[in-house]
Amino acid sequence: MFTTTVNCPQCRTPFSAKIEQIFDVGRDPSAKSRFLRGSFNIIACPRCGFQSMMAAPILYHDPAKELLLSYVPMELGLKAEDQERVLGTLTRAIVNGLPPEQRKGYLLKPAPTFMTLQSMVERVLEADGVTKEMLAAQRAKVALVEKFLATQSEDELAALVKEHDADLDYTFFELFTAAVQSAAEQGDRANAEKMLTMRNKVVELSSLGKKSNEQAQMFEALAEELNQLGDKLTPDSFFDMVVKADVPERAIALVTLARPLVDYNFFMKLTQLINKAPDSDRKRLQELREGILDAVGKVDQVAQAQVQQAAGLLQTLLEAPDIKKTIKENLPLIDNSFMAVLNQNYESAKKAGRNDIADKMQKIGDTVLEIIREAAPPEVRLINELLNFETEDESLAEVKRRAAEITPQVVEAMKAIEAEVQAGGRAEVADRLGKIRAAAERQAMMSKWTM
Ligand SMILES: [Zn+2]
Repeated sequence: MFTTTVNCPQCRTPFSAKIEQIFDVGRDPSAKSRFLRGSFNIIACPRCGFQSMMAAPILYHDPAKELLLSYVPMELGLKAEDQERVLGTLTRAIVNGLPPEQRKGYLLKPAPTFMTLQSMVERVLEADGVTKEMLAAQRAKVALVEKFLATQSEDELAALVKEHDADLDYTFFELFTAAVQSAAEQGDRANAEKMLTMRNKVVELSSLGKKSNEQAQMFEALAEELNQLGDKLTPDSFFDMVVKADVPERAIALVTLARPLVDYNFFMKLTQLINKAPDSDRKRLQELREGILDAVGKVDQVAQAQVQQAAGLLQTLLEAPDIKKTIKENLPLIDNSFMAVLNQNYESAKKAGRNDIADKMQKIGDTVLEIIREAAPPEVRLINELLNFETEDESLAEVKRRAAEITPQVVEAMKAIEAEVQAGGRAEVADRLGKIRAAAERQAMMSKWTM
């Protein structure tokens, strides 16, 4: 990334712009989504607001896929030898950043050059196993999302759900969420909230939404059950819960929720149980073991990818001149695993006596919380405000004062956050939230009686 001065194509005002030419997914995993979304090298004139994408030669590198691709915009009008020189410089920058054992043969060949960004994006997706047919299907789904967003009434929306129920799959909902996110990123809060309400309505009405709601409820109930057990949850009692689960889905949900308890000993015990089992039960247990191995594998895969992504993002943030802006750009990647990686690195930096880095990480953590507070839906903001009081009594008094705002949605959100905080090991906050929620529920009950 380098900064350069450009003249506004519209009003000729000179201003500085950041230009990104190297998208190296090995060094910065967030580079991939930035590249695929086309959210880079966008310049905005501070005087007249003119926005456009700055034409610059770019290089895309994914070491895991041995992919090195280049794009030189035609409008730059570079001669072949100049093009070669620019790409050579960029390639060297990538190669020089790699340890010798990773400088493989594909880096020595000239990178395939694309005429359009679109074709380069398609090549990157192809390496992910996304074919042209799948892209066409995706475009059709985007069009479907737009159709939903264009509805003018709830009845119209409901009719559309009925008509397209079979097409409303995970991809559809992901694309819907992406549309909401991009509206929010563009600062269009009112529209983003309206779109989110529409999405939730579609979830509620569609077959897939209903099914995944049931699943979410089962997960929630199980998480609650595990929480309630507290200290009584031992490796042995957990093992019994899993093997005695009435349906395999419950056993799989349990191992997904409590992955750390599914260790070597767990599988040893399961194997012993299978060997001793009567013929009538052996097949069930064998299938259960297969299912558990599969589920654990999936959890670990996701966890590993998340940790890698989180580590890359942390690196980007440590180097970012404007932390807040960079966090906002990467908001979809800021999740629990990012916060865990941040905390871990903070502790290590402290131990190593690198207070400069620790301070910067502290600042990153504070900024994340600040942005999340600003961006949170109203019910979450309310909960945060309730929690922000020094004492419990003050919090509870505020619950009384703001009774009108405490809707069933707020209570539901409290439950969800409580479970999340509890799972994150912050029992004290969860406890306080529990008390606030109890007070809120009493309050709601009372207003029902007095109505
Ligand atoms: Zn301008």
